[in-house]
Amino acid sequence: MQTKSFSLEFFPPKTPEAAEKLRATRVKLAVLKPAYISVTFGAGGSTQAGTLETVTEIQQSGISAAPHMSCVGSNRAEIKALLDTYIARDIRRIVALRGDIPSGMGVGSAGEFRYANELVQFIREATGRHFHIEVAAYPEVHPQAESHSADLQNFKKKVEAGADSALTQYFYNADAYFRFVDNCAKVGVTVPIVPGIMPITNYKQLARFSDGCGAEIPRWLRKQLEDFGDDVEGLRAFGLDVTTELCRTLLEGGAPGLHFYTMNQVEPTMQIWRDLGIGAN
Ligand code: FAD
Repeated sequence: MQTKSFSLEFFPPKTPEAAEKLRATRVKLAVLKPAYISVTFGAGGSTQAGTLETVTEIQQSGISAAPHMSCVGSNRAEIKALLDTYIARDIRRIVALRGDIPSGMGVGSAGEFRYANELVQFIREATGRHFHIEVAAYPEVHPQAESHSADLQNFKKKVEAGADSALTQYFYNADAYFRFVDNCAKVGVTVPIVPGIMPITNYKQLARFSDGCGAEIPRWLRKQLEDFGDDVEGLRAFGLDVTTELCRTLLEGGAPGLHFYTMNQVEPTMQIWRDLGIGAN
């Protein structure tokens, strides 16, 4: 049986204090023995330097690090230089993305790459099989997709270009994931598709993120989260319970692992991971 992959995601810290805090988070979460820790790029205004510094520290601590790399607005020479830097630092895994196009800029004017499949193809041409390439997948359909079927075909293009596996946008509807995996298989896409898990701890923040990225908070869940109002602890306990149940359903249904959006926090991921009994991964 294929071993399941349990991984974590960080975002680069913006201040020296946040960097210190993230170091402590990494040390605490290291006991879970994650398969790797990925680090976002460009999201929320973070810089390329922040991603590079953070992955370098993770890698030096003995945990495999995977930088996210978005191609929007970049040219081939810049991407090649960054790939060379990662190779020099012994990085073996990359999360290859298009990134979000700044408002007012069309796809055509967004640099030498228009879509993530072009980045994947370029990474393979420039570096052969050096990197394990992860790409993004959207069980609830990418918010800008022309249609459900177009999005599926576009996902397939990334795999045909050389992606080894995928990480999903977060979702709270396990059926959307299972249906997506089935639909992928029907069009011949069988790479591992690992669900991205966003632990529920803060309703307002979650609602804001979800509006931006097209992830649906089902009505039954939204209504119950709204009821907690200022009861932060109650919401957190309920939210983590719901997230843990989702993870259990996904794993029992055959998901090839889980990728946790930690938001640079220790406790939510630690609690879910331990409750699932994957602490000794
Ligand atoms: P693509 O796969 O290129 O898809 C984008 C849209 O274009 C889709 O609607 C698709 O259907 C369509 N499309 C794709 N290929 C084609 C084609 N060849 N022709 C026509 N249409 C096409 N953002 C960041 O800025 N930094 C991060 O670190 C980051 N990390 C992420 C990690 C994960 C796991 C996920 C799921 C998302 C992440 N994002 C990040 C967000 C991501 O950048 C956005 O969702 C972005 O809008 C799409 O990126 P993509 O790589 O999925 O793009």
